[in-house]
Amino acid sequence: MWAAGWRRAAAGAGPRGHRAHSALAQLSGILEAELKGIQESGLWKNERVITSPQGSHVHVDGVSGGILNFCANNYLGLSSHPEVIQAGVQALKDFGAGLSSSRFICGTQTIHKNLEAKLARFHRREAAILFPSCFDANAGFFEALLTPEDAVLSDELNHASIIDGIRLCKAQKYRYRHLDMADLEVKLREAQKHRLRVVATDGVFSMDGDIAPLREICRIASRYGALVFVDECHATGFLGPTGRGTDELLGVMDQVTVINSTLGKALGGASGGYTTGPEALVSLLRQRARPYIFSNSLPPALIGCASKALDLLMGNNTLVQSMAAKTHRFRSKMQAAGFTISGADHPICPVMLGDARLASCVADDMLKRGIFVIAFSYPVVPRGKARIRVQISAVHSEEDIDHCVEAFVEVGRLHGVLP
Ligand code: PLP
Repeated sequence: MWAAGWRRAAAGAGPRGHRAHSALAQLSGILEAELKGIQESGLWKNERVITSPQGSHVHVDGVSGGILNFCANNYLGLSSHPEVIQAGVQALKDFGAGLSSSRFICGTQTIHKNLEAKLARFHRREAAILFPSCFDANAGFFEALLTPEDAVLSDELNHASIIDGIRLCKAQKYRYRHLDMADLEVKLREAQKHRLRVVATDGVFSMDGDIAPLREICRIASRYGALVFVDECHATGFLGPTGRGTDELLGVMDQVTVINSTLGKALGGASGGYTTGPEALVSLLRQRARPYIFSNSLPPALIGCASKALDLLMGNNTLVQSMAAKTHRFRSKMQAAGFTISGADHPICPVMLGDARLASCVADDMLKRGIFVIAFSYPVVPRGKARIRVQISAVHSEEDIDHCVEAFVEVGRLHGVLP
């Protein structure tokens, strides 16, 4: 299927031709084999094309009518909130489409500085620095700070961007078993010989919805003189009594040294990421973090949206409470119906099914009933632990939640998951 396009490209290579032609032909062969391998191993990812804004209901190309959406990270429902959109439009008008520049050249506007200050206030940290994404914040942090004299200790199930960030730095690497505090302690004991030690963990692990035991991590880290780094992408804005995140939920806001998080999920859902922590560390990142220095400044519209999302969130607590109540409604109704829902009381609600094919069939049958959910199977999750990851949002109504549960029960019975 891909070969024809490549043959056309190779044929158009022109008079320089022969070597370019053979290089293209070689590339074509390699790519075809790779793509075929991905398809044959069942790992091909299809992207459904959405023709509407993000929300509780979306329109999907090829499916008639709106469908109920349970697979976005739109935890607080702010992605299409009218005030968030208006703030983005206003920032676009007042500050332009973009800066055509990185931050340190001529890409810093007042709105960038204001949002950084607001993020630091929100997390109760000294300072914050924006990045093009949290993936970039994770790529920038470890390399900028750590040398071969230092050590980083990372949960084995950390997000790919933390793993890649750690790969980029020259520190000594230790991987501890997922959430295993005894193993972390063993590794920290080994790591005493290093100058600095950084324990790196997701606050919430997005495949299982399980929450890192930050109280224990901070206690052990303090015993062994280590700093704690937490990626809060699946916690910022909604976890803890006022949505500050996992550190607030577990009462360790003063013990986590560094937080990296995203503007691309609960905080308006556009894109962008940031690091927040000690002032001197943020200053160092401005000098050294490569994705910050060598990439374009975040566009004003994104800054406007995220800033308004934070205002809404800091203004009152109703969105956080609404999302928590709906999460509780979904989890308890599904468990009462006989499903196993993994993880703690988090809006990521993995419906555990085990078999990959079963999970995929259930997702397809849910779509036939107007509900958009995604099945995850190996290698994204361990073999035999296929599941459907349902994500609850404050924007879902109670009727939406009940409709989703009813559809799961019907499809579950159809496939013998429920009696
Ligand atoms: N860290 C975690 C835990 C994530 O889930 C994600 C996004 O999927 C990222 C980092 C990357 O965030 P961003 O989309 O801002 O690059």
